Amino acid sequence: MNLSEIIDIGCTGDLSQVRTLRCSECGGRLQLDYVEGQVAGTVYVKCLDCKQTAGSRRLNSAPPWVAECGKKFETTGIQEPVSDVKLNAGLTKP
Ligand SMILES: [Zn+2]
Repeated sequence: MNLSEIIDIGCTGDLSQVRTLRCSECGGRLQLDYVEGQVAGTVYVKCLDCKQTAGSRRLNSAPPWVAECGKKFETTGIQEPVSDVKLNAGLTKP
């Protein structure tokens, strides 16, 4: 995943997608910031480890994760395990 793809997800992804993001250079965790402007807001992405990966993009509305996490967010880089409910949903017999 390159920086452009990371920013795409950072701007449009929901929390479950955004929290799995990692630095394209070192694999470290990323910090996402959403800064509201008068007309448009801006999402800033940067690596917490190597500082090599950084970018920003202007948006007309806040990305989905802002509603749940606020305007500053650090990714875990870890895919959340599928819950037992979802995992078993297709397997259990009536
Ligand atoms: Zn990095």
